[in-house]
Amino acid sequence: MDIENLTINKIHQGLASKEFSALELAQAHLARIEKNDKGIFSFLTLAKEQALWQAKAVDKLLAQGSQVSLLAGVPCAVKDNMMVENVKCTAGSRMLENYVAPYDATTVKELKDAGAVILGKTNLDEFAMGSSTENSAFGPTKNPHDLKRVAGGSSGGSAAAVAANMAVFSLGSDTGGSIRLPSSFCGVVGLKPTYGAVSRYGLIAFASSFDQIGPLAKTVEDCQIVFDAIKGRDEKDSTSVNPKSQIPNPKFEIRNLKIGVPKEYFVEGTDPGVEKVIKAAIKKYEDMGTEIIQVSLPHTEYALACYYIIVPSEASANLARYDGVKYGHSEAKDAKRKEKNLLDVYLQSREKGFGAEVKRRIMLGTYALSAGYYDAYYLRAQKVRQLIKQDFDNAFGKVDVIFTPTSPTTAFRLGEKTDDPLTMYLADIFTVSVNLAGLPALSLPVGKAGNLPVGLQIIGRPFEEHKILEVGKKYHVA
Ligand code: GLN
Repeated sequence: MDIENLTINKIHQGLASKEFSALELAQAHLARIEKNDKGIFSFLTLAKEQALWQAKAVDKLLAQGSQVSLLAGVPCAVKDNMMVENVKCTAGSRMLENYVAPYDATTVKELKDAGAVILGKTNLDEFAMGSSTENSAFGPTKNPHDLKRVAGGSSGGSAAAVAANMAVFSLGSDTGGSIRLPSSFCGVVGLKPTYGAVSRYGLIAFASSFDQIGPLAKTVEDCQIVFDAIKGRDEKDSTSVNPKSQIPNPKFEIRNLKIGVPKEYFVEGTDPGVEKVIKAAIKKYEDMGTEIIQVSLPHTEYALACYYIIVPSEASANLARYDGVKYGHSEAKDAKRKEKNLLDVYLQSREKGFGAEVKRRIMLGTYALSAGYYDAYYLRAQKVRQLIKQDFDNAFGKVDVIFTPTSPTTAFRLGEKTDDPLTMYLADIFTVSVNLAGLPALSLPVGKAGNLPVGLQIIGRPFEEHKILEVGKKYHVA
């Protein structure tokens, strides 16, 4: 079995032709994780027993001659902010260090129902707040292309696990770039679906009007297969919808495509190596007969400021539930095992349970929402959010998809940005607008600058995931 080149379709064929069993596949991946993950640290928890049990169940079905789905027996990984029943779910935080998920997230249930084999839970920035996975309370994930560099964040573990062939695909979550940025840094394909396309039930909430779950995989085809398995309306998430337009258009022809390139994304500040690779990718699409049109997204310059007001505001509300009483880390008793008063329990549990970035976000958000400042910050940011969305609506009146770099740089060095939160936030400059507008976007590896991967971001109209996936597929064919 050639573990490095395995894709979902190859696994499906290999299982059907009995080239390998689902159990062998799971064991081979677990062995690879045990051997290779020490230096990378993409997994926080392995679900070995459950994985082997799931694999055996698939083998049993195959032995009975039953039809199995494409995902049956496929070894995958899940970001540690999504519930997998009876497996720890830490969100990368001391606060939930010993928390065991009591149920499956809807996406996880869908993967399990399809027969996918969940190997374990992947590392992330604490509560998904960050761009490098260095905010994980348990240590950073390293980039498999260069162990001195970050894997990107916050789904760094999910991206590194796929890049190092320790999982065939993984699930990540994207609030402001957390699927796309690590995909770009690690050279894998990552899809952030339209807000509402995938259920958020069982995802630990960060900023609820932004959060979306999506796949990271080695190929666009694999991303599409996983997306098709997890998308759609879920009664347990009232913001999820069942879009009509999710059926691939059989008449899709690349030469009829109009590609928008926003001038605001090609300004000073982007690494020249990255810009060269992105421009070469755009040229490749032009050579396929597409029309390249310059568009303008004039409010782009306000996107980061707007994001870093609204997201911490939502986070401060969502994280209020970690009070040291209901669940999670608790400082309810003092050294002499005496009960403390309630306020001390709240204060001390949150003081010890949360890391610095999470506290920073809670303070920022609480401030932006407080009486007297609400109008000046939160309300104004909501208005800017609307303008950013309108920019995209206008652009999509002229073009079918929009191309930008996923990130202004390739993977940076570990520790390079940890002392300065604002520099870290700048890594999100090309990804946050998509979340503010609720759009789908793909990060596609299109080359390298030096020895490090570069991702092209392909943004689509709401619920046009299939179009951006079709566009992405053409890159490798051409
Ligand atoms: N880096 C961004 C932030 O820290 C995005 C995080 C995410 O998408 N989860 O908020």
